[in-house]
Amino acid sequence: MMKKIACTGIKPTGTPHIGNFFGAIKPALELTRHYDARYFIADYHALNAMKDPVSLKQNTFEVAATWLACGLDPQHSLVYRQSQVPETFDLAIMLLAFTAKGMMNRAHAYKAMVQANTDAGRDPDDGVNMGLFTYPVLMAADILLFDTDVVPVGQDQAQHLEMTADIAQSVNHNYGKELLKVPQPLIQENTHTVTGLDGRKMSKSYNNTIPIFLESKKLRQIIMKIVTNSQTVEEPKDPDQCNIYSLYKLFANEQQKKALRQRYESGGMGWGQAKQELYDLMEQSLAPMRKKYQELINNTDHIDEILTTGSEKAREIATRKISFLKKEIGIG
Ligand code: ADP
Repeated sequence: MMKKIACTGIKPTGTPHIGNFFGAIKPALELTRHYDARYFIADYHALNAMKDPVSLKQNTFEVAATWLACGLDPQHSLVYRQSQVPETFDLAIMLLAFTAKGMMNRAHAYKAMVQANTDAGRDPDDGVNMGLFTYPVLMAADILLFDTDVVPVGQDQAQHLEMTADIAQSVNHNYGKELLKVPQPLIQENTHTVTGLDGRKMSKSYNNTIPIFLESKKLRQIIMKIVTNSQTVEEPKDPDQCNIYSLYKLFANEQQKKALRQRYESGGMGWGQAKQELYDLMEQSLAPMRKKYQELINNTDHIDEILTTGSEKAREIATRKISFLKKEIGIG
């Protein structure tokens, strides 16, 4: 049986952290076992917010190196750059003709910006470019171009994906046949929020992150900064109320978890020791990925090759789809 197609866009932004790894990267990689998975670096999406060419280029390489180092296999999944599959933009223009402006007005990301502007007493559309405004249409093109069956989404993207389905249905309705496959959301249930150094959600916006590929000395330093309470070494401690254990359990197997829990509960272990245990375990799991990441990021030509090869493969599929669509709609 043919596998279903899953499609995921990767935003080339910022240094990835442990929260991104467990919340986004790892679950997306697990999908590749059951789906025919397509992963693209959404560089034209990034352009809406990122106008510095050096950063945009560097971030693209960093995010590609990150996913490859974490185990994304370009032999097994289709990995490409959005900008290198220009058929996407043919389709986006076509879809614009089927997208109600009113629907874009209601898009969550856009509405949030308008709200922030209004609250601050600015013009409602201050800082909003047309790329941001029409972002759900480009997203729809990314997805529909490949006859995608499912799109793994977090809560924040669920509404945008409904718009993709809506746009596809308008097209199908107009021509009286299924020209575009209507995709389904794949809501990831079992991803937990990873806590940061201070116990809040790990996030770049809170400045409490542990980057995935920190070199070992820096990794140890940052782990030592995890916020703990003031219990003494002797006191028994509650692992479920501890920022160190909450990270430890992400990396540990059952046996390791049980062993550390016992040491917490029986007392006699200080926070310094718990942090050392966390560091040892994290270093062990992260070191091989870090090594791979360093090799990749030091050879951006190789990353470029991987993305270009993937993009060529993606274009074969995309070209067929766009020629078919153009014929159907009376263009070309
Ligand atoms: P940040 O909050 O650091 O800016 P992003 O918004 O760029 O992170 O998140 C990118 C992806 O990583 C999203 O899919 C998001 O759900 C996931 N993610 C981010 N932080 C966490 C976290 N602390 N725990 C679980 N998943 C997270």
